[in-house]
Amino acid sequence: MHELSLAESMIEQLTEALQKEATPVTRIETISLEIGAMSGVEKDAFEFVFPFAAEGTVAEGATLTFKEVDVKVKCGQCGVISSPEFPFVSCVSCGSALTDILQGKDFKVLQMEVS
Ligand SMILES: [Zn+2]
Repeated sequence: MHELSLAESMIEQLTEALQKEATPVTRIETISLEIGAMSGVEKDAFEFVFPFAAEGTVAEGATLTFKEVDVKVKCGQCGVISSPEFPFVSCVSCGSALTDILQGKDFKVLQMEVS
């Protein structure tokens, strides 16, 4: 399950970042995450595996909050910005497949609260 390795590497990165803080962090309370519809990350699966990845780390017991982001594309033909239903990324207005993906690909940490 790729969500598990994703959770593990995310916690690793957060831990590394926290080690650079002046005051030592013993616990991460909450982690706010952005999940794009095209990111390939399943919210439910991520929530399920997170406690396993967090066990024994500063993120153990942390609460996760998610901001789900829709796909948004800009059409290269007609210039309209639309939100096609993933997995389709063609222009909703004219049907062209020549679109630039503006949002919906990211999976990232927006913020976290520590103690
Ligand atoms: Zn178009």
